[in-house]
Parts: sequence; structure tokens; C-alpha cells
Amino acid sequence: MDCLFCKIIEGSIPSRKVYEDEFVYAFEDIQPQAPVHLLVIPKKHIPSMNEAEPEDAELLGRVLLAAKKVAHDAGLADSGYRLINNIGKDSGQVVFHIHVHVLGGEKLGALNA
Ligand code: IMP
Repeated sequence: MDCLFCKIIEGSIPSRKVYEDEFVYAFEDIQPQAPVHLLVIPKKHIPSMNEAEPEDAELLGRVLLAAKKVAHDAGLADSGYRLINNIGKDSGQVVFHIHVHVLGGEKLGALNA
């Protein structure tokens, strides 16, 4: 499959991994938009939330809980952080494999900045 994030999961494209389990993979964003910028992805290829189905509910919950874990591991539990999921072209989504951005480490700007 010609998917950048699937290749990261299988290891054919290198990444700076921060967490992995049977269902989820998390790594540092290559172009950080904040002092902490991580990406959390399901190992199952789902292009975006537009293609998510009811049977993906547990998996998507695992992605969110992994996002919390990596944020806490990065020291953001008290200061706070932001989780972002882009969907489709108007959102700016460029990689079509569901990913949650974990952003923090500084006071973040307005949501639609
Ligand atoms: P999107 O705009 O929500 O699709 O975000 C895609 C993110 O993937 C961007 O923040 C990119 O910087 C990031 N990205 C693209 N290629 C790589 C890579 O090879 N390693 C890590 N992050 C990447």
C-alpha cells in the first residue's frame, strides 16, 4: 500500500517512535509546530475519520488513550495540550492515514490561526 504512515509502522521509513502497542503507533512529527508535536496513528489503515466505521470505535478509543499517554510521558499532563485530527482538504490533511496530532509545550494559539 502506498501510504507513508503504513511504511512508518512497518519500519521501511524511519521514525522517532515514542510509543507502540498491538494497535497503535506514535512518533515525533518531522516538522514540529510546537515544542512537543507527536502523531498517534492506528496500525490499521483508515484514510480519515470520513472512512471510520462503527467497528473502529474501540480502535479509535485506543488511539485517543495513547495520545493521552504520550502527552503525559512528554510532561504535558499539568500544562495541557491539544489533540487535533484533520479530515479532508479544507482541514489541511496531507497524509491520508488517520492521525491525531499531540501539540504542547507552550501556550498554543487560537484554534483556527
Ligand atoms: P496532516 O496535515 O494532518 O495530514 O498532518 C500530517 C503531518 O505529518 C504533518 O504535520 C507532517 O509534518 C507530518 N509528516 C509528514 N511526513 C512525516 C514523516 O515522514 N515523519 C513524521 N511526520 C511526518
